Amino acid sequence: MIMKCPHCYERVFPKQDNTCPSCGKNVLDTTEDMECYDLVELKDKQKLPEICFVCGESTKNKAKISYSRKYGSKDYLIVKLIVLIFSPIIFLFSLIANQNRRFAKIKVYMPICGQCSKKERPEPKYINYDNYSICFIVHKNFKDAFVNVNSNNIGK
Ligand SMILES: [Zn+2]
Ligand SMILES: [Zn+2]
Repeated sequence: MIMKCPHCYERVFPKQDNTCPSCGKNVLDTTEDMECYDLVELKDKQKLPEICFVCGESTKNKAKISYSRKYGSKDYLIVKLIVLIFSPIIFLFSLIANQNRRFAKIKVYMPICGQCSKKERPEPKYINYDNYSICFIVHKNFKDAFVNVNSNNIGK
């Protein structure tokens, strides 16, 4: 039976001993805290709600997260993080790859409140450079609002 792994938030078929094939942890080993989170996949030109993706409270703060990667050196990853307290930005995500795809850059403005930005460092769960998408583990409130503001884009 497909279920959401409470550790990595992937949809998985748990193995016979109830471990997650993706992260190797026991899927039955949950806490209530984990129920509040889900995985969201962000793509270019998607709107993000003004909701802190960590705690689910409304916020106008945003953290700019940018990643660069050179092809051929997989470990080369630059992370820059700046917390912005500016007005909302409509298109919050951009990913640039040049024609011969030797270099990729992702920039995303994740809404995060002042409180959370002090203690949490927004880390994407993973980046898919081929799909131009980036996955974050987010609060359910954020996910719901995200689905709402992008509901015109259903079907991608
Ligand atoms: Zn897992
Ligand atoms: Zn927060």
